[in-house]
Amino acid sequence: MKKIAILGSTGSIGRQAIDVVRRFRGELSITALAANSNLAVFKEQLMECKPLVASIGNAADVGELEYFCKKHNLKIKIVSGRDGLLEAARHPAAGVVLSAVVGSVGLEPLLAAIKAKKDIALANKEALVVAGPLIMREAKKHNVRILPVDSEHSAIFQCLQNDPKPGIRRILLTASGGPFYRSKKRHAGITAADALAHPTWIMGKKITIDSATLMNKGLEAIEAHHLFSVPLEKIEIVIHPQSIIHSMVEFADMSVLAQMSNPDMRLPIQYALTWPHRRDSCLAPLDLFKVRSLEFGRPDFRKFPCLALALEAGKTGGTMPAVMNAANEVAVAAFLERKIPFTAIAQIIEKVMRRHKTVASNSLETVLAADAQAREAAAQIIRGYLFSV
Ligand code: NDP
Ligand code: MG
Repeated sequence: MKKIAILGSTGSIGRQAIDVVRRFRGELSITALAANSNLAVFKEQLMECKPLVASIGNAADVGELEYFCKKHNLKIKIVSGRDGLLEAARHPAAGVVLSAVVGSVGLEPLLAAIKAKKDIALANKEALVVAGPLIMREAKKHNVRILPVDSEHSAIFQCLQNDPKPGIRRILLTASGGPFYRSKKRHAGITAADALAHPTWIMGKKITIDSATLMNKGLEAIEAHHLFSVPLEKIEIVIHPQSIIHSMVEFADMSVLAQMSNPDMRLPIQYALTWPHRRDSCLAPLDLFKVRSLEFGRPDFRKFPCLALALEAGKTGGTMPAVMNAANEVAVAAFLERKIPFTAIAQIIEKVMRRHKTVASNSLETVLAADAQAREAAAQIIRGYLFSV
């Protein structure tokens, strides 16, 4: 029995992960859950999964959850906040931690889980973006496996299964292009509702906006760089609107392997949780006659400046990726709250990056300090924005 802790259980990935576990009862079970604010969904999950420990974002909600557990005769330890999240991440009963929280808040619990020698199923890409070298170093030191959940990284990982030391020439990282790849609409007029209408994936709000700006692909290039030790220069972004090929690897002999399926996150989640085995799935088989054609295009860096900024931050290294990521998190939240226009997301990230003096990011403290400073700088620029309109 594989025992799993799910951090971010009430989110898009978290809920789909519980769906996967449900289909492999007797083989997979849940020992810890962590969520932030969605009490209604969290209570249903506690009833169904009966974990040993459950963490909620706000301490003020602990009483309500304890009352709920008592009423339903559930023996669950309720914890909260940052400490609660860390407790769920390192709980001794779990062998695998699925990190599916959104944002750099996932960094500390991820490091805690690695230090507790848990295998990691990683959806939370922001943690790798802000502290990739630190995470990979700790994972190596504690002999911990990081199994990718992000669909592109799962695809690359699947293409690498036959050869433990492959000569990778290039990674071809595919991107749907988001809702505005072909759109003639001026980016300045894009609303949150426009940007939340993703053509191929239904996901949490933050990653959906990141997909619309193509920031998501920049974050994923950095993620792939750390996970597979491939220089960013060897990672090529390929726009592929059908989202059928989830990424490709080109090898020394010029052979290119691709992983294909209908777009459904339950496949990479399942593969990470059942690896090294492939198991039966409830997904619909891929019907290539219905898909008919697979298209490929180059990204337009001028139309999507967030992608260029993310790649620049990745190449700069040190604290810069953490700064870029924090500015993006703050700007995306402000866009979703309708405080700034779509085009301001990239402008804010760029301003925050230009003000930052990069230093080496070899400790957690350095990374967290850079993240906090960038958040404050971005918030200040947004306040200026609000006064100017
Ligand atoms: P969602 O916004 O749907 O879910 C985020 C989850 O994190 C929720 O359970 C939320 O709790 C929880 N959370 C947020 N902040 C905290 C906190 N401080 N403490 C504890 N829990 C917290 O996001 P997604 O599921 O879409 O994405 C999760 C991660 O996976 C992201 O890093 C994303 O980039 C990555 N990913 C997602 C994909 C997808 O298809 N959705 C695909 C590939 C990668 P609550 O809801 O209770 O507030
Ligand atoms: Mg992805």
